[in-house]
Amino acid sequence: MNKSQSRNSGPEPIRKSFFRRSQSIYQLKNPLCYVCRTLDFRSDTLSSPSKNNKNIILGTYDDLLQRTSCQFCQLVLHLVRRKEETVDLCIVDHDGPSKRTETKYELRKFGDAFEIYDGSSIQGYIHPATKDASPVPPATSSNLSGSLLDIGRIRSWISECELKHVNCGIMEDSLVNREPLDILLVDVQNNCLVKATTSQQYVALSYVRSNIRMFHTTKSNYKALRKDGALDPQKTKLPKAISDAMRLVAMLGERYLWVDCLSIVQDDIMRKHVQLNNMNKIFGNAFFTIISASATDANTRLHGVEPGTRLPYVVAETIQGTHFISRPANLRALLDQGSYGSLAWKYQERLLSRRCLVLTAHQAYFLCLSSVHTDATSCKPNASHPELDVPSNPLAGIQLRRTLKAKTSPDIFSRGGFLLYDELVHAFTKRALSHPVERLSAFAGIGAVLKESYGSAFLSGLPESLFDLALLWASSATDDSPTTPSPPRSPHFPSWSWASQPGPIAHATGPLASALQRGSPGLQVETGPIYLHKPHSFRPVERRYGALLQPPRGSSSSTACLPSLSPPPPPPLARRSPATLYFSACTARLEQFSLRAYDWAAGAARMLVYAMPSGRCCGKLWPDAGSWGELAASASASASIPALASAPVPASAPGSAPVSASASPPADGTREMVLLSRAHVEGVARYMDLGYHFAADAFPDTEWGLLNVMVVEWRGGVAERLGVGQIHVAAWEAVEKERKVVVLG
Ligand SMILES: [Zn+2]
Ligand SMILES: [Zn+2]
Repeated sequence: MNKSQSRNSGPEPIRKSFFRRSQSIYQLKNPLCYVCRTLDFRSDTLSSPSKNNKNIILGTYDDLLQRTSCQFCQLVLHLVRRKEETVDLCIVDHDGPSKRTETKYELRKFGDAFEIYDGSSIQGYIHPATKDASPVPPATSSNLSGSLLDIGRIRSWISECELKHVNCGIMEDSLVNREPLDILLVDVQNNCLVKATTSQQYVALSYVRSNIRMFHTTKSNYKALRKDGALDPQKTKLPKAISDAMRLVAMLGERYLWVDCLSIVQDDIMRKHVQLNNMNKIFGNAFFTIISASATDANTRLHGVEPGTRLPYVVAETIQGTHFISRPANLRALLDQGSYGSLAWKYQERLLSRRCLVLTAHQAYFLCLSSVHTDATSCKPNASHPELDVPSNPLAGIQLRRTLKAKTSPDIFSRGGFLLYDELVHAFTKRALSHPVERLSAFAGIGAVLKESYGSAFLSGLPESLFDLALLWASSATDDSPTTPSPPRSPHFPSWSWASQPGPIAHATGPLASALQRGSPGLQVETGPIYLHKPHSFRPVERRYGALLQPPRGSSSSTACLPSLSPPPPPPLARRSPATLYFSACTARLEQFSLRAYDWAAGAARMLVYAMPSGRCCGKLWPDAGSWGELAASASASASIPALASAPVPASAPGSAPVSASASPPADGTREMVLLSRAHVEGVARYMDLGYHFAADAFPDTEWGLLNVMVVEWRGGVAERLGVGQIHVAAWEAVEKERKVVVLG
């Protein structure tokens, strides 16, 4: 934690000339720099755990570059070297020098290997070579230049997939080819823009654009760019990633390239909106997608298209008698983190592509539904093949199932069907998005593929047929606590949608965990019909029930006191959300409970819920990212919790507390728990996992022992979500409740 402690590199000595002389003398005997000299390379100690677990700071790229005579730093440079990005930036319309923050590289010992980090993601490994290691080039600076891409080999991968893999065409076939989309393509023969549709054979480019301003298509230059030669890289200052991609497409014998900044007229708002929401068609129909996976911005070259832009897969160096090799991080790590892997739009582009040609600083991969190829020279450091460790594509499973089952939909109401949705949403929401307003657009392509399989529309990112389950998403931000205010909720989306959240969300770790662990039957709905109110429509949400979810128990008991729901007057304009939900539900004032912050350091942020006045812990809350502070404040302001001693909860017969019906909306600032569903759990205390906090004696096991609630706050007649929770049914039955129409914005 304490950075100054782990900083091993001292300041540059003042007596520089003396230092240089003594350093050069020293290097004859021990060619390691002053940082690496502190590392222990002797083979007999390598397998033992490192004495000091803290990371060793190696310094910035420039620091490493200066230590040219250090053998170990050369091995590190192989993993972080980004020569091409530091020179010859060719930016049109560039406002000031790019603000690239200086990354400091760190070293961590892991078994007998050193791991190199850039602060957040792993860059690669330096470890002793095994005896069967094939010869690899030494890491001298003259050797740090890899080969060009083997075009013939890449072509053979593509044609093998095209001709032999029956499954690899289906992403387009089953989903997206029914109505081709009008698109603009770059003709790499005539160097101009052409009008086409997604049924044309074309290659798509997925790259990191970053925040640099660059050449793009506008309404004003569109006509000019359609003339032959207008996009000639010699004449037009295109970002390096794009000019390289044009070259590569031509080298591979293809003619058309789709790339966002040229293929989307950037100031044509209406058409841009259509294109952004149809990425499933654009990437799903691409013959293949070129992914520039280790790029930091649009001026990063595509590695291996031009000489000197790629590094060898591994390099070796003998240090103190041990043969070490330096090899880059696996593709899985690169596509899960890193500058490309951490972007939400890029996640969607990769998942929607049928075939990917992934270019990294060290190697080229070809991924399709049936095969993985790479041109890395395997050094086989272990029996495994780290160079082939690639991430899977969750959507590919859907595609395969659809073909195998003659295109019938998978059972989405099963546990597996919902877990797939959860996996995709979690992976998507933990990735960064520069414009929060695009949160649903960047998921729309994935949503379109799921819609085909699930057979239902998506309402603000939630599958309509699984609506009751999907409403129970929980914020899974780990660094969120009352002391670190999280960014506010996005006003562009309704509070009931995860799209309004700034951070990662999950279902399987929130209130839904009980249903997903148990399977069937997991949840029973407790609300009345849910209506969706958009600016020009008011209609019921078509929820479906299945193994995980049961309809409201005995339709009479749950629906008898429902007020009839006719289209209500729209709420005041200022408070109107893009999509408002109307439903009748049982609610209880939050002030009848007490809250206490709990355990935000150990994973998902949670709060304990105490029944009052007994002060016994009856459940937990998952506050939404933006509402931690508010709920924590209300927790400390509320009545202090009595000592967790004896006071038993007054025994109450089920449903004994009165339920009144309310007509007028609560006053501004009123906070309530809204009862959504009832969860079936076996062993409430064990399931709650709150240790001694949970009052297991007061809240014993019962068959449907837990209630799923949403915590809301009313403003201007509209309730906004603050979080979700699970409390014991006995605690709920002991408080005063109201049945009312909840207007959820
Ligand atoms: Zn060094
Ligand atoms: Zn294939």
